[in-house]
Amino acid sequence: MRLIITEKNNSAKRIAEILGNGAKSDKTYKVPYYTWSGPEGDHMVIGLKGHVLNPGFPDGYSNWQKTDLHELIDAKLVKEPTDKNVLRALRKVAKDATSVVIATDFDREGELIGLEALTEVLEVNPAVKDGITRARFSALTKDEIERAFANLDRLSYDLAYAGEARQDIDLIWGATLTRAVSLATRRFGSNFLSVGRVQSPTLGLIVERELERRAHKPKPYWEVLARFQHVDGAFEAHHAVDKFWDRKEADAAVAGTKSPGTVSEITSKRTNRRPPVPFNTTSFAAEASSRLSITPSRAMRIAEDLYMDGFISYPRTDNTVYPSSLPTRELVASLVRLPEFEAAAALLDGDLKPTRGKKESTDHPPIHPAQAVRPGGLEGAHQRVYELIARRFLATFSPPMITESTRAEIEAGSETYFVRGSVVVDPGYAGIYTYARSPDEEIPKLERGQELELDGEPWIVDKETQPPTRIGQGKLVEMMEERGLGTKATRPDIIQKLYDRGYVFGNPPSPTETGIAMYEAFKRYVPRMATPEMTAELERDMDEIAGGDTSKDKVLEISRQMLHGTYEEMAHKEEDLAKVIWAGMDEDRILGPCIVCERAGRKHEDGSPNMLRVIRARKSGKRFVGCQGWEADNPDACDVTFPLPQRGDVFKLEERCSICGETPRLKVAPVRGRPWNLCLNEECPSMEEMRRRRAEREAARAAKEGEEDGSSASGDGASADGSKPDRTKADAAGTKTRAKRSANGRRSGSRRKTRSGSGSRSRAKG
Ligand SMILES: [Zn+2]
Ligand SMILES: [Zn+2]
Repeated sequence: MRLIITEKNNSAKRIAEILGNGAKSDKTYKVPYYTWSGPEGDHMVIGLKGHVLNPGFPDGYSNWQKTDLHELIDAKLVKEPTDKNVLRALRKVAKDATSVVIATDFDREGELIGLEALTEVLEVNPAVKDGITRARFSALTKDEIERAFANLDRLSYDLAYAGEARQDIDLIWGATLTRAVSLATRRFGSNFLSVGRVQSPTLGLIVERELERRAHKPKPYWEVLARFQHVDGAFEAHHAVDKFWDRKEADAAVAGTKSPGTVSEITSKRTNRRPPVPFNTTSFAAEASSRLSITPSRAMRIAEDLYMDGFISYPRTDNTVYPSSLPTRELVASLVRLPEFEAAAALLDGDLKPTRGKKESTDHPPIHPAQAVRPGGLEGAHQRVYELIARRFLATFSPPMITESTRAEIEAGSETYFVRGSVVVDPGYAGIYTYARSPDEEIPKLERGQELELDGEPWIVDKETQPPTRIGQGKLVEMMEERGLGTKATRPDIIQKLYDRGYVFGNPPSPTETGIAMYEAFKRYVPRMATPEMTAELERDMDEIAGGDTSKDKVLEISRQMLHGTYEEMAHKEEDLAKVIWAGMDEDRILGPCIVCERAGRKHEDGSPNMLRVIRARKSGKRFVGCQGWEADNPDACDVTFPLPQRGDVFKLEERCSICGETPRLKVAPVRGRPWNLCLNEECPSMEEMRRRRAEREAARAAKEGEEDGSSASGDGASADGSKPDRTKADAAGTKTRAKRSANGRRSGSRRKTRSGSGSRSRAKG
C-alpha cells in the first residue's frame, strides 16, 4: 500500500478526490483517512494536524524559580507529540505501507513536518525506507496534483533541518528570556511577560513610532485660500505658498490679493502608472490590510482556507515572478468568462506579458487564483480576498493607468494662486484592479489671459503640523520583511502575540505603557534583544542550512553561546530592568483621577489627586477598579469601586470620559472578537446607547433567525462591501458580552462561537 501523508485533513481529502476518484473514507483514532485501489495498487492518504512533534525541555526544567537558566539554555531538547491521536493513527497505518509519499506543504515548515511524520513511520516500519518520495505542489488543483505525483521528488533534509533549527532557537531564546524577565519582575503564572527573538524587535518598531509621536511638538502654520467666480460656478484656489510659517506673511498675502485675477499659466502633464507586480505573501497581506481593512493574520487565515479549497495557489511565498510553466492564458480566459472579471476580457486579444517584481524564487509561484470561482458563491471576507487575488492577477497583465493632471496659476494683485485637477484618461489596469483607481478631480475650463473676479475676500486657515501616523498592520508586515524579522509564515502571528500579551492594543496598534517599558528596558539593558540585527543574522543562517552550507548543530551552538552572553548581561542589571518595567505596568493600571474624592476634597499630601486604578483582589484573584484614597478601617476614606470584565485586556482610553465627564473610559480587548469601549459610569450615555443598540440588534437577529428557519439562505447575499455585515456581527458579539454582564453580572458569550466558526461558510460550487 502506498501511503500519502499530507499536512492537514483538507488537503488529504482533496488529493483523494483528485487521484482516487470515488475514494472511501474512514477514521482511526478519530483521524480521517481515504483509501482507493487503482492500476498502480492500493493507496491511502491521511492528513496530519500540522506539526507532529514539537521541541520541548526535558523533565526537571519546569520550575521557573528553581531552574538555572544557563542550564536551561544548554538542555538537550526533546520532541513531544503535538496530538497523540494523530501519532497513534499515523503509526497504525504506517505498518501496512510499502511506500510513502510526503505531500505536506511545499516550504521549510512543510519539509520539517514531513520529516517528523517520516521518523514515526520508519520507527514502526523500517523496511519502507527505500520507498520514500516527496510530492511538491503549489496548488490543490487537478493539474498541479497530477503533475506533482507524476514527478515525485526526494525529501530535502537540509530544508527540514533549517525549519528545525529555527524552532529550537525560538524555543530556547523565548523560554530563557521570558523566564528571566518574568523572574526579574516577579511576574508568575498567567501574568508572565513574554520576550521573543522576533517579537521584541517588532514591538520596537511600534514603540519607536509612538515615542516619535509623543515627542512631536505641533508647529502652527497658515494656509491662504481665495474663491474666484466662473461661469461654471465659483471655485477655490490655494495660494502658491503651500504653508505660511509666519502669520504676518499670511496677512500680507491676503492684503496683496486684488480682483480680478488673471490666468497666467496652464500646464498639464500625463502620467503613466505601471500595473502592480504579482502578489507575494507580504504584498498580499499589506494590500488586504490597506484596501480591504482585513488584518494580516486574518488575511492569511482566509488565504489558507482558499488554498485548501483549491481556489488559490499556496499563499506563503516570497516570489514575485510567474514561472513560465504557469498556464496564464488559460487562467485569464477562465476568469474573464465570469461577469465579475469581464472588464479584463480584452487581455486575451494580445500577448500576455505580466509584470515582474524584484524577488524571484523557484519554490512557489506568486499568489494567484488556481481556478476561476464566482466570488458571489463565497462568504463575505473570503469573497473579498479571493476577488483581490483574482483582480491583482489580471492587473499584472494589464496596460498602465494614464492620468492627466492640470495646474492653472492665477495672478491676483501681487499674489499667485493655483488650482490643480487630475483626470483618469485611460484606467488601464485600474479597470480591473478597481482599488487603485483614483477619483477624478476636475477643475473648471480656464484659458490663458482669462480674467476672474474674486468671489468674496481671501481667507486664512489655521493649521498645525501633525505627528507621524501610527504604523498600520499591513505596513508593519512590510517593515518586518525589510528588516528580515520573521518569515512570511510567522509575521502575522507575531503581531497577534503582541496583542495577546497586552503590549499593544487598537488598530493600528498602539503600545501600552507596559509595552513601551518592555522595549525601553531591553533597549537599555539587553540591546541585542531589542534590535532586528541578531534575528536577521539567524534568518540568514537558516538559509545556509537549507542550502547545505552549514549544519543545524553549528548554528544552534553559536546561538546558544550568544544567548549565554545575553542572559549574563541581563542578569547583572536585572533590578534596574525590573524597575523600568514595573513603572510601565503601574502606569497602565492607573486610569484617571477619582471624581468622588475630588468632590469631597480628598487628595494626596502633595496635593495630587487620588487616582482610580486596576486592582487584583488578593484572595479571589478577581480584578476591579478602586481608588487610591481607600484605607482599611477608615469609614471616611473613599470606597468607590467599579467592576471589570475578568477576561481579556483592558487599556485606558480616556482619563475622564469625554461623553459623561464622570469616570475613566477603557478599551476592552476580549480574548476573541473586537475590542469595545467601556465607560466605568453605568449611567454614561455611551453605555446607554450601547445597551440600546444591542437590544435592537438582538431583536433584528431574532427576527432574521425566525425567517431563516424555513428557507435556506441564498449564497450571494453579500454586497460588494462585504466587510460591513461581518464587522457588525463582531461588534454585536462584543457588546453583547459586556451588556449581559452589566445586566445580570454573568458572562454569556455562547453565541460568539457560532459566529467565529467557519461552519456557516457557504462554498462555491465547482
Ligand atoms: Zn476616590
Ligand atoms: Zn462616560
